[in-house]
Parts: sequence; structure tokens; C-alpha cells
Amino acid sequence: MSNFFDTRIEFLKGVGPQKAALLNTELQIFTYGDLIQRYPFRHEDRTKIYAISEISESMSFVQIKGQIYQHETVGEGYKSRLVAYFTDGDEEMELVWFQGAAWVSKNLKKNTDYLIFGKPQFFNGKISIPHPEMELFEEGQNSVGFLQPVYNVTEKLRKKFIDSKAIAKMMRQVLDQAGNHIRETLTPELIHSHHLLSKKEAMENIHFPGSYNLLDKAKYRLKFEELFYTQLKLIKTKFIRKTVYKGQIFKQVPTLTTFYNDHLSFDLTNAQKRVIKEIYKDFCSGKQMNRLLQGDVGSGKTIVAFICMLMALDNGAQACLMAPTEILADQHYYGLKEYADQLGITIDKLTGSSSMGHRKVTHEYLLSGDIKIIIGTHALLEDKVQFKNLGLCVIDEQHRFGVAQRAKLWSKNEDVYPHILVMTATPIPRTLAMTLYGDLDVSVIDELPAGRKPIRTVHRYDAHRLRVFGFLREQIQQGRQIYIVYPLIEESEKLDYKDLMDGYESVARAFPECQLSIVHGRMKAKDKDYEMQRFVKGETQIMVATTVIEVGVNVPNASVMVVENAERFGLAQLHQLRGRVGRGADQSYCILMTDYKLTTEGRTRIESLVKTNNGFEIADMDLKLRGPGDLAGTQQSGVLDLLIADLAKDGAIVQQAREAAQAMLEADPELEDAQNAVIKNHILSLRKDETNWSRIS
Ligand code: ADP
Ligand code: MG
Repeated sequence: MSNFFDTRIEFLKGVGPQKAALLNTELQIFTYGDLIQRYPFRHEDRTKIYAISEISESMSFVQIKGQIYQHETVGEGYKSRLVAYFTDGDEEMELVWFQGAAWVSKNLKKNTDYLIFGKPQFFNGKISIPHPEMELFEEGQNSVGFLQPVYNVTEKLRKKFIDSKAIAKMMRQVLDQAGNHIRETLTPELIHSHHLLSKKEAMENIHFPGSYNLLDKAKYRLKFEELFYTQLKLIKTKFIRKTVYKGQIFKQVPTLTTFYNDHLSFDLTNAQKRVIKEIYKDFCSGKQMNRLLQGDVGSGKTIVAFICMLMALDNGAQACLMAPTEILADQHYYGLKEYADQLGITIDKLTGSSSMGHRKVTHEYLLSGDIKIIIGTHALLEDKVQFKNLGLCVIDEQHRFGVAQRAKLWSKNEDVYPHILVMTATPIPRTLAMTLYGDLDVSVIDELPAGRKPIRTVHRYDAHRLRVFGFLREQIQQGRQIYIVYPLIEESEKLDYKDLMDGYESVARAFPECQLSIVHGRMKAKDKDYEMQRFVKGETQIMVATTVIEVGVNVPNASVMVVENAERFGLAQLHQLRGRVGRGADQSYCILMTDYKLTTEGRTRIESLVKTNNGFEIADMDLKLRGPGDLAGTQQSGVLDLLIADLAKDGAIVQQAREAAQAMLEADPELEDAQNAVIKNHILSLRKDETNWSRIS
């Protein structure tokens, strides 16, 4: 933006240093530019003045013109309130104040025209408006006929008389002065083909819309612009990697062929085969691969990762797999070690709880190249971990690693960056994936291995626990194993821990003939590992655990997942938990236990889960129910810095913006065409803003 928008807010008429300081600290508004990017969160409809007779219960806000003919204080003590009797000439209604009554009654003018505005309430057939906004009515002076913007302000600002109206006034001033300083930030071609308002029209109408239609158009234009630039950045990053960053070529596949022919005990699904081909193509391209592998729980991502590792090894490189938790790292390690041993491949693991001695040796052998595959947690990111030739990093992400951490792995091979394969635990809604992982190529495993019976999910109330236990007993008698999971929510960790222990004891009492494992976050890694292994080996029949087992754990003989207090888990989390069963050939079950009391949202979640096994559908529902802010992994990704677009609702615009950005970069990768100068300049000014910000904070 040009200099005008860098003008400090204190120079705006009526603001001054004191108010400016408040705007700085309360709303992070420093300049004119900051101000006009504070979009109203709604508009009050002042387009019409209603007659009292027209007011209906469905109206959330009304504007009425009339006079007060009398007012009085009613009730006593804390129940006392001021009631003003208001008429529009035909009918009457009441205006009510519960607070500040003394001040209001002193200032109310009788028999004078007022314009009042507020939310009508109905009681015994009488209409009243509590704490109405009001202004004296003067012909031509009031903002009738407008959609009045409503801005977020803090309590502190309100106390200093900087309310939404005051912000609107500042906004009006800045917009009036801004004139031609508002520069267009999209090309005429984009504006034309997407039927967009100009930037100037959009800024005017987002704050002070001429009509609902113009408000919608302003929103659309600004969302499109915001998403367009986000996508442009992501796609540009992707382009650069694909053209600039070299990648090792993994063409030879002798070990892989042996493995495939002699050791793999099942047929790959077509989806797995397709994805492996996509990755192999990347490996032969000579460029660095940055690929996201999405697949529903149980779709067999791990074996795909292992096959890719073999390709790296077959061409003289090493491979690593990084998991978000120790339990998961262990699981991957023990699972893959079986294959690796058969093939004579050295594989090791490195986690937070590896001993110093073990680490030292591992570090040495990684550097010498004697260890070919390393599985681990964050511990792999440490600077001490150096490779002879790291060719492939697989990140089992569960949305928990940030972009910065991904980049940290690259630096483990400075000459030629390793190929990166990111696997997600649960599917991510398409529109969110486009933004969270928009810089990556995407492969999807959209098929479960053959012969899997869909998991049967049921909802049961705590009162029916005995029946549920009876069912579990039958399953155990048939040789199956059971998970019983308790929620762990950090704020009330102590309580949760008690729940878990009480639960454990009651399960132990109910199943005296069974062996139990217990795993929770407070245990030492070594003990967790021991308990997990007992369950994996089938020495215990029931695993009582907190959500530490949520991700990735793979015990095909386990056929029932019981989730206690299921209403306390998120949708994606429940889907993950359910995915721990249904991995073998037996019919599997997921039993969601709750109290009779459930919030509407809790019930919706449980019903959604009972209804569908499809992770992609569940991901979409999750996004709609919770919004992107609550979805794991979005916090550190920058997705939430969006000013106006909402990834939960604006999926269609994300798609259009992405296509537009893609097309532009394909035609003009460096944005050198004269007609794209406006885009290039805007990117530069955005970057300048970013650096300014980093200086401030
Ligand atoms: P996820 O995609 O959830 O990480 P896993 O990779 O853990 O799933 O695979 C789940 C289970 O399915 C494992 O026991 C794995 O060995 C098995 N599996 C993977 N692919 C196939 C296949 N094509 N046919 C049969 N079983 C498979
Ligand atoms: Mg997995």
C-alpha cells in the first residue's frame, strides 16, 4: 500500500495520541491501513424504519421512529429498572434499562422524535426493547437507509467511548480521504473473468454497503483476493522446488523387487500401487519430491512408505521416518524391523528416551551410513543427527509438525535435499488441505485393503454397561482383544487420571479371568513400551488407555474399541480411535459410551460417527462443526491469519482462487508480463508489511 495507509492512526482527526495508544494495544491498529482492514463482523439493518405494528418475534433488530411520552422507575433494589413508554403514533411499546437507569432517566427527552434501534422482545403480548440504542431524529441527519457496520471492540475501548460507532466514524473519515490511494491489487483480467468489484468499491462496500447485494460482492472480492495471494505463494513455492531444487534419482529397485515378490504377504490395493507409481515418477524426475500422502485410517500408508524407503536404499541413500509420539515410533519400528530383518537391512530407532550410549552409537552409524533406516520422534531433528546420505524423509504427521520442522529435515542433506513424503493420520478436507499443504503434491489412497469388514459403530449409555461388558466377554472368548479408552484433557488431568484408574479397577473386577494392560501419559516410555508389547503379543486381552494410543497403533487381533465419555472427544479423534480396530479379517466394533446428558453438538458428533466410516466425510463435518481454528495443526500454519476468508465456508472460493493462481503462474512464472505487474507489486508490498511486523514484535 502507498504511504497514505502508513499514516499513523493518531493523526486521524479526533483520535490523538491517547486514543491511538489504546487502539494500538487493544486492536493492534497502528496505521490507517490497519484500520481499514478491520472489517465489520456484521451490519445492522438501518435501511428501513418499522412501525411497531410490523414487529415480529423473528426480527433480531429493528429500527423505529417515535416519541417517549412517559417514563418511570419500576421495582426495587437490584430488580429496579427504568421503563420508558414509547409510541410511533399508532401503537406503543416499552424501552427498558436495567443498568444506568438514573443517568438515562435524567437525559431522556419527552415528546421529542427519537430513532431507536435494538432487539425486540415479546412478553405477554407486549413488545419491549432492552437497552436500545437511540439518537435524536432530525430530518436528513440520521443514518437511515444504510447498513450500519458493527465492529469488534474491547471492553476497555468501550469504557473510553471508542465503541463500534466511533470506529465507524474513523472508518468513514479514512475512506473519504483515501480516494485514489486505494490501488487495485488484482489484474483487469481477473476482475473481469471473476466478476469482481474493484478494490476501491470493495473497500467502500465492505464497511458501508450500498445494499446487501453490494455487501456480498465486496465480501466475495476481498475473500477471493486474500485466497488468491495465499495460493499464489503456495504454488510459487511448489514451482520453485520443482524447477530449482535437485533431487536424488532412485531408479534401481532390486531389493524392492525381492521384497515385493518374496516377502510381502498381501496384495497391494490398486490405490497403493497407483500412489507408489506417482512417487516413483517423482524419484526419477531429478527434482526434490514434496508430496502429501493422504489416506483414511487403515488404508495402508505405512507399507507404501516402506516401499519408498527401499527405493532410496536401492540407490545408495538412507531413509528416515519421523513420528509424532514415542509409541507410534515404536510401532513403526517393530513393524518395519520384521521386514528389514528379512531383507538384511539395518534399521534403528531414536527417541527422547533412547539412552546416551545408544544415541552415540546410532549417531556414528548414521554418519557412516551403516544404519540404512532410522525411525524416531522429534529427536531426529537434533543437530547431532547427521547422515552419510539421507535420501528420503517420511513424516507421519498427524498435523503436528510445522512447516519449519519439515524444512529442518531437509537441511540434513545440504547438497541435494532429501525427498519428503508427508503422511497424514486422518483425511483433511480438500479445501483445508489446499491451504495447509498447498505447496505439496498430493497422493490419495482412496481404497481400503480387500476383505476388511466395515467397523460397526454403536452408541451406548453408561447405564447399559453390564450388557456392553457381556459383549466384550464374548469377544474375548472368541480370542479377540479389546481397547478401552478414556479421555485425557489437560486442564483436568488429575480428574482424568482418577477416571482412568477407577475405570481400570472396575474392568479388572469385571474381568477377573483376563490379563490387562494399561498405558497412559504419566508412565515412563519404557513402561509404556512394555505394556504395549504385551498387548501386541497377545499376552493381555484388554488394553485400558488414554488417548496416547490414538495414533497409528496397529494390533490386527484387536476387534473392539470402547470409548468412555465419548462426547469429550473431537470427531477426528474418535475416527482415529476407531481406526485402531478393523485391521484384521474379523468383524470389528466401536462402542461409544456416554451419559444420558449430551450437548447437541456432542450428540451430532456421535451420530455422525455411527452413520459413516468414511474419513473424508468425517473431516468435512469436523471442519463445518468446529471451524478451521480448532482443527489440529492449523494453529502454527498461518491459515488462521486470514482476515476475511473462512476455510470452513469458503471452499468454493479457495478452489477458484487456486485455479486462477495456478493458471497465472503457468503462463507467467516470474510474473514478468506487464499486465501482471500489479500482482508483483502487491506481493512486494505484502512482504514489506511482513518485515515491518517482525520489527515490531
Ligand atoms: P494407516 O494408513 O492407518 O497408517 P497402516 O499402514 O497401519 O494404516 O495399515 C493398517 C494395516 O493394514 C496393517 O496391518 C498393514 O499391514 C495392513 N495392510 C496394508 N496394506 C494392505 C493390503 N494391501 N492388504 C492387506 N493388508 C494391508
Ligand atoms: Mg499410520
